[in-house]
Amino acid sequence: MKTVCVEKRETLGGTCLNVGCIPSKALLNNSHYFHMAQHDFKNRGIDVSGVSFNMQNFMAAKDSSVKALTGGVAMLFKANKVGHVVGHGTITGPNQVSVKKNDGSTENITARNILIATGSEVTPFPGITIDEDTIVSSTGALSLKQVPKKMVVIGAGVIGLELGSVWQRLGAEVTAVEFLGHIGGMGIDGEVSKMFQRSLTKQGFKFLLNTKVQTASKNGNTISVEVEGAKDGKKQTLECDTLLVCVGRRPYTENLGLNSVGVELDNRGRVPVNERFQTKVPSIFAIGDVIQGPMLAHKAEDEGILCVEGISGGPVHIDYNCIPSVVYTHPEVAWVGKAEEQLKQEVNKTLFKFSRNFEKEL
Ligand SMILES: Cc1cc2nc3c(=O)[nH]c(=O)nc-3n(C[C@H](O)[C@H](O)[C@H](O)COP(=O)(O)OP(=O)(O)OC[C@H]3O[C@@H](n4cnc5c(N)ncnc54)[C@H](O)[C@@H]3O)c2cc1C
Repeated sequence: MKTVCVEKRETLGGTCLNVGCIPSKALLNNSHYFHMAQHDFKNRGIDVSGVSFNMQNFMAAKDSSVKALTGGVAMLFKANKVGHVVGHGTITGPNQVSVKKNDGSTENITARNILIATGSEVTPFPGITIDEDTIVSSTGALSLKQVPKKMVVIGAGVIGLELGSVWQRLGAEVTAVEFLGHIGGMGIDGEVSKMFQRSLTKQGFKFLLNTKVQTASKNGNTISVEVEGAKDGKKQTLECDTLLVCVGRRPYTENLGLNSVGVELDNRGRVPVNERFQTKVPSIFAIGDVIQGPMLAHKAEDEGILCVEGISGGPVHIDYNCIPSVVYTHPEVAWVGKAEEQLKQEVNKTLFKFSRNFEKEL
């Protein structure tokens, strides 16, 4: 196919390469080395002295990983003759995309098929303004100017645990506030989550579970975070110099022009598609974070490949039960398929339905 990719960022690779998987994994890997040099090498018979941390070089190493990979995608585009237009794309018809370029000019592209892969954005926390300086989202947490003394993380899901780990290893006192009664987000096995929490607590991570954040305010260099027990209503104020807000991500469809072709979003802001990733407009497809399913890079990538194979007439099949989830902390935690709790819930639901039907028949 003759293909063109419209991307509003100057660099290619989307969230994953620019402000997601790759920079976070670079910081995790390198902070792990630092932590090992400080706390672990000695136990292994390796004596090192004068271990110190250099923030500038630490960030430069992450930036160079990002640059190598985003540049690699640009090279692959050239080698495979994939067109690349930098600008914001808006769908203006079933076969047309209008691109507003960064210099203000517009380019109209006509295509037999349009594939939406606009991804997701950080879900804001009502009442807390992210300045990406001291009140940060995951994006700001990848580029802090100094190691926080005290960091509060709102949300002990995958991203909160990974980025909290980075700064905790580098010396920050990190407290994660989580509404749920466990860490690791939805889908993690309950027993694994408990062991995981124990390991991270040993490393110095603090957790406030079953706790909801009410609000946060900044006074000089201090951020006060008001929290309340979800079960007992107990209120307390946490003070920190850096607040990381990571309560999830939501599909990104701003100014995408979906209404011009009559595609309506579902109740969670996602683009509805059929099993061939086709929207209700036969020439418009969608994959990745902007549709249903876990927001993971390998899921988006697989969907992309399958969708295009489908457009070329091939079969399309994906089993969402077989997509692994990984938390790249130490220890790393991974799972695939349904957790015990989910299965029990499903069995209970089936039994309930069965007994209701049985009662009706009686
Ligand atoms: C901190 C962090 C860590 C993560 N770590 C992992 C991990 O370890 N493993 C994993 O599997 N996943 C991870 N993820 C999730 C992963 O990044 C996403 O699931 C993945 O990037 C989704 O890919 P996508 O192609 O759907 O969208 P994206 O990667 O978000 O790409 C969408 C692109 O579309 C562009 N765009 C949007 N609208 C328009 C428009 N109208 N016109 C032009 N361009 C537009 C955006 O600029 C963006 O570059 C992480 C995410 C974050 C935030």
